[in-house]
Amino acid sequence: MPPTPRNKTRRSRHSGAVVSTRNKTIPISVFGNVMKQFDAAARKLKLDHNLVEFMKVPRRSTIAKLPVQMDDGSFRMFTGYRVQHSIARGPAKGGIRFHPGVTLDEVQALASWMTWKCAVVNIPFGGGKGGIVCDPYKLSEGELERLTRRYAADLIDLFGPDVDIPAPDVGTGPRVMGWFMDTVSMRSNVSEPGVVTGKPLVLGGSEGRPEATGRGVMFTTREAAKHLHIDLGQATASVQGFGNVGSVSARLLHDLGVTFTHVSDVSGAIHNPDGIDIPDLIEWVAEHRFIKGFPGAKAIKADQVLYAKVDILIPAALENQVTDQNADRIRCRILAEGANGPVTPEADRVLKKHKIFVIPDILCNAGGVTVSYFEWVQNRIGYFWSEAEVNRRLEEKMVAAFDDVLVMSLKHRATMRIAAFMLAIQRVADVIKLRGVYS
Ligand code: NAD
Repeated sequence: MPPTPRNKTRRSRHSGAVVSTRNKTIPISVFGNVMKQFDAAARKLKLDHNLVEFMKVPRRSTIAKLPVQMDDGSFRMFTGYRVQHSIARGPAKGGIRFHPGVTLDEVQALASWMTWKCAVVNIPFGGGKGGIVCDPYKLSEGELERLTRRYAADLIDLFGPDVDIPAPDVGTGPRVMGWFMDTVSMRSNVSEPGVVTGKPLVLGGSEGRPEATGRGVMFTTREAAKHLHIDLGQATASVQGFGNVGSVSARLLHDLGVTFTHVSDVSGAIHNPDGIDIPDLIEWVAEHRFIKGFPGAKAIKADQVLYAKVDILIPAALENQVTDQNADRIRCRILAEGANGPVTPEADRVLKKHKIFVIPDILCNAGGVTVSYFEWVQNRIGYFWSEAEVNRRLEEKMVAAFDDVLVMSLKHRATMRIAAFMLAIQRVADVIKLRGVYS
């Protein structure tokens, strides 16, 4: 039912978006959004109905109750998820999220996006994702380590370099990946660096991995600007979220001459019409953790970051930020999806009407999984590339993927999102047809 103006909408704890109906508010289903994106692309491809059903649903969803001893001696039960959406093109691949708002619906959506993302950049992986319902900022380092190890040990049968390979996501990073790798290695008595990517460099991580997602956002935004004849040296930008993806994208685009006038994070938002000094802001956040209080800009309302009149908007925080409730207020020319699922399918229609060029998440933020693939390759061959080599290979992959999606978009008169899904679904379908269905 469409939202009615009489009813107030309320923000959900995690995604920040709801649909309001006459009597109640319903959080937007993130997996429901992926299904809608998938269906729209599958219809255009005119694929066989059976194949569509086979590709659409996750192959395996696991829920685990994880008892962990806290520092005060008490035990707490956490809930953990791992979803393998597809293993058609290779092992399931996808991060692990630590966040209080993690749900099975969200993990299924993220796992599905991973399948399509890996296919868009044409790397030999399927899609997976995991999560634990917890607030990592409220756990001590010891508690985080025990929680990570319990998750890895409990679900150990699911993981392996040829089966399912986790990586960092929101709330996790190289430290967590190190514990994960160690737990699996100790259990199997074999050093298993390839069981997880995004590891610290000394544990077999790859040069360039921490910056890879933001670097991919920069490459695809640069290509979009070229296509639209936008001079990046004159362009303005706004970024929502200043964590790994937001800060690296901003710094690399700032290096190309883009002026960032608006930035936000969970602590609030800041604005400077003459441009925020991004390297200074990164230093500030390294010291103070959040952007709040940064002296080089003035505080503004958080949502102004989304509604700023800029050339480039980069949502780099969480899902469902641009919905049918606010899409009319978006005024950028390029919307580069650093985050996964920041725009709902209903909002997509509004953005299309306003001729906003959306670089969809499954293309825009695929740099991370691409360098994760490079890390896995390096682990398997036991030889490591220089950072320049990794970045060069990443650029090659991202530019090729951008071109493939653009060609599909122009050929089928489809948005970049639908084109990216069409390309990915076709690649997965081709593999399934050749492999056949084992039964
Ligand atoms: P992160 O935890 O490093 O950063 C998240 C940022 O978002 C933080 O600055 C946080 O303060 C901010 N934030 C949280 N809620 C906010 C809100 N309501 N308004 C404004 N800012 C808010 O996480 P990340 O790794 O940068 O991931 C960000 C997004 O990118 C996620 O959707 C993630 O799935 C996606 N992504 C990450 C990677 C990766 O390699 N890290 C790869 C692909 C996609």
